[in-house]
Amino acid sequence: MLETSKNTLDPSDWNAFRLQGHRMLDDMMDYLEHQRDQPVWQPMPEEVRLSFRQALDDGQHDLESAHQLFMKDVLPYALGNVHPGFMGWVHGGGTPIGMLAEMLAAGLNANLGGRDQAPIEIERQVVQWTRELFKFPETASGLFVTGTSMANLIGVLIARTALLGVGVRHEGITAGNRQLIAYTSANAHVSIVQAMDIAGFGSNALRTIPVDERYQMDIAALELAVAEDRKAGMTPFFIAGTVGTVGVGAIDNLHSIAELCERENIWFHVDGAYGALAMLAPDIAPRLQGIERADSIAFDFHKWGQVPYDAGFILVRDGELHQSAFASPADYLKRESRGMAAGSPWPCDFGPDLSRGFRALKTWFTLKVYGAEKLGQVISNTCTLAQHMKRRIEAEPLLELLAPVALNIVCFRYRSADANRINADIVIALQESGIAAPSTTTLNGQLAIRAAIVNHRTTANDIDALINAALELGKIASKNTPQAQP
Ligand SMILES: *Cc1c(COP(=O)(O)O)cnc(C)c1O
Repeated sequence: MLETSKNTLDPSDWNAFRLQGHRMLDDMMDYLEHQRDQPVWQPMPEEVRLSFRQALDDGQHDLESAHQLFMKDVLPYALGNVHPGFMGWVHGGGTPIGMLAEMLAAGLNANLGGRDQAPIEIERQVVQWTRELFKFPETASGLFVTGTSMANLIGVLIARTALLGVGVRHEGITAGNRQLIAYTSANAHVSIVQAMDIAGFGSNALRTIPVDERYQMDIAALELAVAEDRKAGMTPFFIAGTVGTVGVGAIDNLHSIAELCERENIWFHVDGAYGALAMLAPDIAPRLQGIERADSIAFDFHKWGQVPYDAGFILVRDGELHQSAFASPADYLKRESRGMAAGSPWPCDFGPDLSRGFRALKTWFTLKVYGAEKLGQVISNTCTLAQHMKRRIEAEPLLELLAPVALNIVCFRYRSADANRINADIVIALQESGIAAPSTTTLNGQLAIRAAIVNHRTTANDIDALINAALELGKIASKNTPQAQP
């Protein structure tokens, strides 16, 4: 009999381990099956928080007792984005199938940096599906990343290489003495600002263009800004349009941006973090027209796509250029035509990560098992629910809609004196009630209760519960407010 290592971390009793593993799986299935019996969120007691401040060597646990700690101290105090009443920020709901796929991926412990292995073929399959979805050419490249924040950064870096040439990777962005300028709407996500900062241009090199009454980037103002910068001797190189702004869910006018970019030789990037996957919904996809003209699209499978965190993605029209912006040869990463080092180019040639997890598997399972059509219906249904919420708000004299409802995000407030403070209080009280969990944003100086309906589990009853609770809590909060303050 072959000896096992005396240092192995594998269980000594596989049968006992198997039983314990099945209990853990059952617990998570129970959790997902009975979501509705739980509060969306509940504050964590101080003693629970303190229980996570122990020294490294403080008390050893076996698997069973560590699992019990998880069930007692972690699971009840998660954020709650798997719950149907969760409508804060823009969070995906995840799925039971995604959970199982994550387990399979962890068991394989695949490193998707490169080399010749089936897991990379799974990622290439998903890349192929995204090309099809966005009508991109066969030569387009794609890569899983943590999220759209990273994908936006990669978009900026490729656009930089497109304009300055691959020499920029050695000489840096200041070598040619050209001042590169980027543009996005004032309602774009802060990760685009960060991308300009991290890429070394500085956030001052990003122009934030005002939006119109529908919260779309003002194209005339954009054209003017580009023209003025050129006149001043600067070089416009990157425009990011947004599909589904984080504040209100607006979609920029993609055709107009595409035309300007073609005319002016500017990189056209789309931040479609949550919205781009609306391409899966036949009733919404027509509103994304022009996205097929983008040079790069950043989006997340972990938001509207319901894939468990994290599963961000970047799709790039010119795959060769994408590769030239990142590929970094090294002796220990030598490619071969046979053996394990075959299959070049590798995913590590398309981004900053070498070691990479198997994000593709949970995405592949999600698309394979639920199917594109079903996922499209989920997306479409969240927009229908947003319209239901909008009608409820319009029917309530004490509530006021604060922005058009383009997709699945609804911004409203309770009418009251001192409305910004009252509505902030309402949102905190809603979250602490465990009934529903919206978040806030500020629109034209007005604090809004913001509900982003992303979760496939959410129903009209959950919307009604949020509205009813907001009305009730609004009454309580405004009663406690001294009226007519100077
Ligand atoms: C969520 C979001 C991002 C950031 O994506 P992450 O996956 O959280 O990094 C960027 N842009 C928009 C419009 C978003 O909604």
